[in-house]
Amino acid sequence: MSSLLIKNGRVIDPASGLDGPADVLIEDGFIQGVGRGLDRAGAVVFDAAGLVVAPGFIDMHVHLREPGIEHSETIETGARAAAAGGFTSICCMPNTVPVNDNATVTSYIIERARQCAAVNVFPIGAITKNSEGEALAAIGSMKNAGIVAISDDGRPVMNARVMRRAMQIARSFDLPVIDHCEDLNLSAGGDMHEGVPSTRMGLRGIPASSEDVMVARDILLAESTGARFHVAHISSCHSLNMVKFAKQQGLSVTCEATPHHFALSDADITAYDSSYKMKPPLRTECDVAAVIDGIVSGTVDAIATDHAPHPGSEKMQEFEKCPFGITGLETALGLSLEKLYHTGKISLRRLIELFTTGPAGVLGLERGRLAVGAPGDVTIFDTESAWTYDVNRSFSKSKNSPFHGRHFRGGPVATIVAGAIVWRQDTVGT
Ligand SMILES: [Zn+2]
Ligand SMILES: [Zn+2]
Repeated sequence: MSSLLIKNGRVIDPASGLDGPADVLIEDGFIQGVGRGLDRAGAVVFDAAGLVVAPGFIDMHVHLREPGIEHSETIETGARAAAAGGFTSICCMPNTVPVNDNATVTSYIIERARQCAAVNVFPIGAITKNSEGEALAAIGSMKNAGIVAISDDGRPVMNARVMRRAMQIARSFDLPVIDHCEDLNLSAGGDMHEGVPSTRMGLRGIPASSEDVMVARDILLAESTGARFHVAHISSCHSLNMVKFAKQQGLSVTCEATPHHFALSDADITAYDSSYKMKPPLRTECDVAAVIDGIVSGTVDAIATDHAPHPGSEKMQEFEKCPFGITGLETALGLSLEKLYHTGKISLRRLIELFTTGPAGVLGLERGRLAVGAPGDVTIFDTESAWTYDVNRSFSKSKNSPFHGRHFRGGPVATIVAGAIVWRQDTVGT
């Protein structure tokens, strides 16, 4: 029997309401006890004095690029970056080559993850075949193979009839539908948010309305079908207001926000630096404030990174030509502490909720809590120590982060999956 005893930490478990000094005992991969003065002969002891001990963090939106685009990322390297960011579970989007639109690809990802991933990997299946927006993917058989949601992230379903049918099917299989809400006709040709900075830089704009009209459409379709609808990487003020309204109406509508959408605005874009190019684009200060308000008020259910690795060879070209997306697994907690906790906007308990019970609830995962019998996944972090992000030391295969060189106050210290320490901070205050 393998045992790990995490002693002397401040244990915060939003699911049970626990917040105080306690020990956590994990045996054979599962939580065996949470309480004061725990002891177990032969257990490996982790001294968490001065640290926060939380349920394992879940990132419900990452891109792992395997199969097919392994020069950008693999399941192994993406999972190591996740562990270094404090995540014990990640959900991978289906835009691989081939697309995860059938049970064979789903099973391949799950098997590869079992062989080489440091953290738990939950695949998200495509909504349509090859994410082409027309014929529906093999949703039922993918569900049997292990997907936790469906999405055509990055290639959103433009045809409302197809989306309506997908929601009906998803409802019958009890799967949430995650939409990257973007009207491709409104955003066509755009490189960054349409506003004063885009005009000043002479770059083509992506209007906020390209997101808003699709959020509106999907909320209406969710109401008529009864499906669970989740807005990926919400970024605009109007979209947040609509999700808030939908929740008030009692609809099963949820959303996630990325750290970059609450940490940066279009005014922060360094001229033509492609590390600031992503979809949805960085929006205005008003939109950033609305995202933070949504996090504070409960409109936002989860923080997710949209970790989107692209190698330097693709990102090192003119702004207009380079692909959209940035990495984010290793900086998510640092940015959340900086912008949400150290500013006094939310408590540590709320911050932990956004990384644990929030995403677990959206996806229906039996995770994100420290109850006896739950998986032995634990994230240990610190709120105070100073460190600097060096993207050249990233575990990700790609280095496309706008946060290289940023100074942080607090971040992950150790990541524990099924009772095994899969990552541990090696230096403090570097
Ligand atoms: Zn997306
Ligand atoms: Zn994405």
